[in-house]
Amino acid sequence: GVRDTAPSTIFDLILNGSIPATIVRENEHILAFKDINPLAPAHILLIPKDRNGLTSLRQSTEEHIHILGQLLVMAGEIAKDTSLGFGDGARIVINDGKDGGQEVQHLHVHVLGGRQMESTFG
Ligand code: 5GP
Repeated sequence: GVRDTAPSTIFDLILNGSIPATIVRENEHILAFKDINPLAPAHILLIPKDRNGLTSLRQSTEEHIHILGQLLVMAGEIAKDTSLGFGDGARIVINDGKDGGQEVQHLHVHVLGGRQMESTFG
């Protein structure tokens, strides 16, 4: 696998239980939890438990195809979970790198919903 030498992030503290998070879904490879600063009535983050070189999507290679697919499938499941506040649809986003506005250097997928999204990106 890819040697992951990037510094650890706040998400590692969530993964090892050092700081609390409201976990909404989990499997062997993925943790999904509520964003601490929600930008919509429903705002969930999905992360690979093992970052495995994926500080950002731009680091992805063929070895990441399986985890990337799993992340999107789970994002779709979350986006239709009305108990989390989702309605008829969601916005699913990956901020990647500096220009993408990425703040946490551990690949994560945002799933936002519970309100009407605007058509433009800001
Ligand atoms: P980015 O800008 O990197 O795409 O998004 C990082 C997200 O992580 C932000 O939406 C931010 O609110 C969220 N976040 C940062 N620190 C924490 C934390 O300690 N707990 C939780 N639940 N979310 C966090």
